[in-house]
Amino acid sequence: MPRTATDAAALSGAQRELERQLEERLAVIQELAPFALPSVDPVAYQTAATHRTAVEQITAALNRIAQGTYGLCSGCGRQITPARLEVLPHAATCIECQSHAETA
Ligand SMILES: [Zn+2]
Repeated sequence: MPRTATDAAALSGAQRELERQLEERLAVIQELAPFALPSVDPVAYQTAATHRTAVEQITAALNRIAQGTYGLCSGCGRQITPARLEVLPHAATCIECQSHAETA
């Protein structure tokens, strides 16, 4: 499916934002690494775990950009709204599927 110029611009914008977030998260994980053990600093451990989960989600989103499936819901296959992607660039599901997942 051909993309319009607007789509391409939005996509590269999302990619830049995701790459920036990825770098930030990796830096925090690296910083926390020496203390991020449950027996040393449980809070740092939790924080590092949260960042690692985010890194996985961001990496998956970057892979979707590479594969041309970015912005499509992994649940129902429909387009995720641009407003949602702006707030949550690594979103893998639309709001409907997300709320189903949360209530399930
Ligand atoms: Zn969906």
